[in-house]
Parts: sequence; C-alpha cells; structure tokens
Amino acid sequence: MSEAEISGDMTDGFHLVVEALKLNGIDTIYGVAGIPITDLLRLAQNEGIRYLGFRHEQSAGNAAAIAGYLTQKPGICMTVSAPGFLNGLVALANATTNCFPMIMISGSSDRAIVDLEQGDYEEMDQLAVARPHCKAAYRVNRPQDIGVGIARAIRAAASGRPGGVYLDLTAEVLGSVLDMETAKKSLVKVVDPAPASPPAPEAVARALDLLASAQRPLAILGKGAAYAQADREIRAFIENTGMPFLPMSMAKGLLPDDHPQSAAAARSFAIGQADVVILAGARLNWLLSHGRAPLWNANTKFVQIDISPTEFDSNRAIAAPVAGDIKSVFAAFNAALKPGQIKRQAAWMDEMGKRKQQNVERMAARLNADPSPMNFSSALRAVRNALATQPDVYIVNEGANTLDFGRNIIDMSLPRHRLDSGTWGVMGIGMGYAVGAAAVTGKPVVAIEGDSAFGFSGMEIETICRYGLPVTTVVFNNNGVYRGDAEGIAYTPTGLLRDARYEKIIEAFGERGYHCTDTPGLTRALTEALASGRPALINAVIDPTAGTESGHIQSLNPKSAVAPKR
Ligand code: ADP
Ligand code: MG
Repeated sequence: MSEAEISGDMTDGFHLVVEALKLNGIDTIYGVAGIPITDLLRLAQNEGIRYLGFRHEQSAGNAAAIAGYLTQKPGICMTVSAPGFLNGLVALANATTNCFPMIMISGSSDRAIVDLEQGDYEEMDQLAVARPHCKAAYRVNRPQDIGVGIARAIRAAASGRPGGVYLDLTAEVLGSVLDMETAKKSLVKVVDPAPASPPAPEAVARALDLLASAQRPLAILGKGAAYAQADREIRAFIENTGMPFLPMSMAKGLLPDDHPQSAAAARSFAIGQADVVILAGARLNWLLSHGRAPLWNANTKFVQIDISPTEFDSNRAIAAPVAGDIKSVFAAFNAALKPGQIKRQAAWMDEMGKRKQQNVERMAARLNADPSPMNFSSALRAVRNALATQPDVYIVNEGANTLDFGRNIIDMSLPRHRLDSGTWGVMGIGMGYAVGAAAVTGKPVVAIEGDSAFGFSGMEIETICRYGLPVTTVVFNNNGVYRGDAEGIAYTPTGLLRDARYEKIIEAFGERGYHCTDTPGLTRALTEALASGRPALINAVIDPTAGTESGHIQSLNPKSAVAPKR
C-alpha cells in the first residue's frame, strides 16, 4: 500500500481497489469515465496503471475481452452505473460466449435507494441484470471485502472455461473509509489463478486408441486451443501423427495456413469423409453445423478435448471425451503416444491433396480477377499482398461478406493473430479488439471492416488517434449491410449512404485517410500506412452490387413467403 498517498492511518475504497488490482498484476484498465468511478480511474492512472479511455463502454469491454484472450489474464473494463453498465454488458456477454477472461467492474448507485426503487441517479439493480449474461457476478458491500471480491472475480474469469465476470462496486463502498491495518490485511494475491487440469490417463488412452483405429483422421482446432498457448504441444502431435487439421476461424495460424497438413482448402471434403475427428477446444455449435448432415457423416466418431466436461455430447455423442486443459492434454498425448501407434494415412492425404488442388485452382480465377470497381475477393487480395511480408500484424475482421471472404483469403502464419466476430458472429467488436490488441502486444493491427460493421464502433477512431496506436482500419465500403442500394431509389433497410467518405473521419483527428478505388492503390495505401506506424483509415470502395445477403450464412436468414417488394 502506498501510504504516502493516503492521509494518516486511514484509506478508502478507491485506493483499495487500485491496490488490489496492482497486487494481482493488472496493468491496464479499459473504460469510460463518469459517476461514480472518475476518481477511481484517476487514482489508478496516478498509481501507474495504464488507462485507456473509450467513447462507448461496449468498445472498452471488447478491448478488455480480447486482451484477456491474448494474455490469459482477465482484461479489466470499468464503467459507470446503469446506462454505462448496460452498454458494456454486450461485451461482457460476448466475452463469456467466446470463453475470453474479462472482468467488468461497474460503479453502482446507493443500494438503500435502488432496492426500494426510490429513483436514484442511474438507478439499476445491476447485479441481477448482469447475472444471466456472464460466468459469475459479485457485489462488494463493505470496503474490507474489496480484496476478496477482486480475487474471486479474477479466479472466476481465468480458471476452468474462461469467461466474463461482473463485479459491482457501490459508490458507498468506494467512498468508505477504512483503517490502514484492516485494509492491508484484506487484500488477496491470487496464487495460480488458472490451475492446470491434466486429463485422466484412461481418457488419454481411450482417445489414442480411437485415433489409432482411424483411416481418415482429422483434427479440428478451435479458439480454445489457440487460447491455451499450447502451440508447440499441438504442432508436435499433429506433425508426429501426420493427420490433416482444420483451424476454426480464430485458430488460424496455430499451425500456419500454408502447412502441408492443412485441410482448409478441402474443408467440406475433410469433414464429410473423416472417420475419426479430434475436436480440440472447439464446440460443435452452428459454426460446425452442429455435427449434423449434410456436412457431417453420421458414422464419424469423435475425440473431444475440452476444459468444460458439460460440453461433451452437447450436439453429438462423443466416443472419447478428454476433460482437461489443452496444454496438459496434448503434453499427455505426446508422452503416451507409442511410435507408429497412429499411422500416417497416405491414401487419405493424397486424396485430400487432390481436392485442395482442385479447389485452389477454382478459387484462383476469382481471386486473380481485377474488376472495377473492386469486389470482395480482389480487394482482399490487395490487402493480402500488403500483409505478405508482415506476419506479425494482428488482424481484426468483421462484417458479413468482408468476414466470410476475409477468413478464406487472408492466410495466417502465427497463432492468435486473427481476431474476429467469433462465436456469435457479432458486429461491433472491430475498434475495441483493435485497441485491445495494439495495447497488449505493441504490434501493428489491421482491422478489416465491413462498412456497416465499422459503424458500430467507428467513433473509437478518435480513441486510436488519441493514443497514437498503430491501427490501420480498412473499411470495405459497398454502401450497405450486405450490399448497397441501386442508384436513384430511396434507402432500403440494408442501405447506407452512397459513396460515404469514411477516410475523412480520421482526418478530423489529425491522422491519414486514404480513398482507394483500385487494387494497386489499396496495396500501396496499406503498405504505406503500416510503414508509418501511425493510425490510418483506408476507405476501400467496393462494388455496391458485390455482396450477397448474409454472406455465407444465407441458410440462417428466414425469408418471408410473401416476398417484400425489394
Ligand atoms: P471455435 O469457435 O474456434 O470453434 P469455441 O469457442 O466454440 O471455439 O470453443 C472453445 C472451447 O474451448 C470451449 O468449449 C472451451 O470450454 C474450450 N477451452 C477454452 N480454454 C480451454 C483450455 N485452456 N483447455 C481446454 N479447453 C479450453
Ligand atoms: Mg457493406
């Protein structure tokens, strides 16, 4: 406790929160200032915690969540009461859905007034509202409980299946005074916040036996595997067994996309033909068609590795469940694997290679076309060319067509470098993820954004400029959600302003904007922006007719039997 800061032998809730965070190695807070947390943020900054202030709590929450994903340490978001809390709640729920560790700490109004609904400033029973949307929710009601409250929040966020935690701090607790002696004793330094959970040896043996029986094995790697930072263990297992692998979107780069065992270019074939699939840190949710036909074969058997045992059998029977953390599980697999136990399946790999080749050739025509105006493929090729020599750039990606094409066209070669709409397919993560990634890694970030997606967090361009972060935002501007309206008609529900000059937004904040209408120009602009190390915004003009409605998930978009006029 920095006693010099506090008068006499007394301290208060504000100081205790900051001390408790520092004691647990929290070095960054993402938030929006206001009643009752303004002084808390000032104090944190004075005490050496890096504070990044946003224009909307959802972006602050998204930054905290992605920081948690990248570091395995819960990212901290701080908000004001009721409306600020609600703004942040989407990010808290999204973090929980994606299994990212984060803690949202919100100040709250006077309990005595809130509980009798007597109409306080920003009155809301925030704890009750938060509870169904996060992994755990706690309220601190006495200053001497701040230490325990923060310790519980850290453990809940980081241990087991990670997730979002809500911590409610009343204005009263923040302002409460406590004697220094009691205060010091109340702080808790969390030891081993995310304990390893090694798998049972029987589960490991069962999984390896099943894999040994396979003729067409396939590994599917999810973002849980990327999160686990078990890159070496996973790669060793995949390469030693010679089996093909498919990365889920955010697991791209766990093994490089150009790895000879990657089955990404023959995804449907690999999934449909595999006889044993090992699912590592990936859920059989909508993103994997729930493990059902027509994508999947009814006879395929599964090994599933997950830290959360209730995940098994959630969509399909799992023949060989392995409960444990991915790092421990792959270490155990590698240790238990007998030489030659899982044989390389040459025929399977040959067939896969042929399929990949066919698909790559089919894609090439589309990818190499250079239409004017640009379409999604050509513009993404231009972006890819600028990124080719810079594997350490972090990619943020959201939108519909921009996301679906981006996932396929932008190859990744390093783990945890692709950050996208994730489990919900949510829009609005863009600028928050970009700031969070730049803040914790110090590396350049390129946010590839649909024009509609960008709008949800676009005001954070000011945040990026204020802190001078090396973030280049590329807006794929096709004048609309999915696509733009035809000239001369009134705006439809999916239409956005025609020919908007998004690059002018960043010029208002003193940084460089680019207006790009062709592929060489786009590659040049992105190359220059990355070399500058400064914030930049590129308005990439895309053919308004290029997008398809709902991108690649049109099957999820119900259509009225009586078609609307347009
Ligand atoms: P994707 O969308 O990439 O398929 P999901 O988010 O659906 O990935 O699945 C991630 C899974 O990983 C979740 O079921 C989660 O419980 C699990 N998980 C997260 N961290 C770990 C870990 N360290 N070890 C094992 N499983 C983990
Ligand atoms: Mg669009």
